[in-house]
Amino acid sequence: MFKKQYCLVDNNTLASEALAAYFYAFSSEEQLSEALTHRPDGVGCFVLGSGSNVVFASDMDTLVLHNVIQGIDVVDQVDGSVWVKVAGGVLWHSLVLWSIKKGYSGLENLSLIPGTVGAAPIQNIGAYGVELCDVFESLDAIEIKTGRRISLNKGQCDFAYRHSVFKTPAYAGQWVVVSVTLKLCSLKEGVGVEFKTEYGEIEAELARRNIAQLTPELMSNVIVSIRQRKLPDPNVLPNVGSFFKNPIVSTRECRRIKNKFPDLVNYSLSEDKCKLAAGWMIDQLGWKGREDGGAKVHDQQALVLTNVGGGGKAVVDLSKKIQADVKDAFGVFLEPEPLIFI
Ligand SMILES: Cc1cc2nc3c(=O)[nH]c(=O)nc-3n(C[C@H](O)[C@H](O)[C@H](O)COP(=O)(O)OP(=O)(O)OC[C@H]3O[C@@H](n4cnc5c(N)ncnc54)[C@H](O)[C@@H]3O)c2cc1C
Repeated sequence: MFKKQYCLVDNNTLASEALAAYFYAFSSEEQLSEALTHRPDGVGCFVLGSGSNVVFASDMDTLVLHNVIQGIDVVDQVDGSVWVKVAGGVLWHSLVLWSIKKGYSGLENLSLIPGTVGAAPIQNIGAYGVELCDVFESLDAIEIKTGRRISLNKGQCDFAYRHSVFKTPAYAGQWVVVSVTLKLCSLKEGVGVEFKTEYGEIEAELARRNIAQLTPELMSNVIVSIRQRKLPDPNVLPNVGSFFKNPIVSTRECRRIKNKFPDLVNYSLSEDKCKLAAGWMIDQLGWKGREDGGAKVHDQQALVLTNVGGGGKAVVDLSKKIQADVKDAFGVFLEPEPLIFI
């Protein structure tokens, strides 16, 4: 049953009160197929998971299809590897907790990322030195226009930093990811796991807790506590996580900026590419903690913009001012990470 003029406030972590012309939550592929077949004439579709990477700055004149398909199945197990097929509507962090309980490793660094499993490949979610593509095997998706089903393997998804084929014009907004298959390590098989600890504050936190022998559960706990310290809980302060991607520039460009700003935080990606810390640049320009027209830059994390009453539109307006300032000072364009509807 399609809901009409549905308020999306509880379906996006920025708590935008935008209305969807039509809304439909599907809990099976059959229901999705029903919705696609019987959707109101001439209305476009938008696929929504938990709404943690979208900004609704205005109402949506589309049918919003909300993915709540559930299910986690072990589909294969060989030596120390285990293949797990997960339905698109499963919440990402509940999958992480499930995998840890089962004695599987691979997802611990991606603990506490909000959102659904179906959305995870769209921007190749990543955190603390690990990206979805490190454990990704394949996905199944349904084409909105035709109902056609496809499977894509890792190569076909064309993953990169916060990028996949689903961000390109040929695929964007045209497919519903109904399941994702991941390849994890089964610790029960006596496999030695190499944990990624070199990123961010992980090593300092391990030392602080005096942890000598790591397990996926301990690693996940460490990540959760670092994230809870650094990022505001969207249930308390509505936000979409990092609002901007860290820009990738040439090493030459990076040197140019460093000449002017010797403390510039940057990471070398290769001989000729560098990633710049967008949060550092925003902070340098005095934006951290600043409020403007019902939106605010978070007090502790300059990359996070919060809705303090002005809704999605206020957050987008604030983001534009920050973009202009950063461009002016550093000559760098900050690309937004979430999908924005104006
Ligand atoms: C506090 C906070 C912290 C965050 N931290 C991180 C982080 O560390 N790393 C990171 O990478 N991201 C992070 N994010 C962003 C976000 O959690 C991820 O991008 C997540 O994968 C979005 O999932 P979602 O279900 O909320 O997607 P939505 O916001 O609902 O949708 C995002 C995009 O995916 C599309 N989409 C959603 N589901 C499907 C589907 N089944 N099939 C096809 N397309 C689909 C939508 O159409 C839209 O284009 C954070 C967000 C918040 C609020």
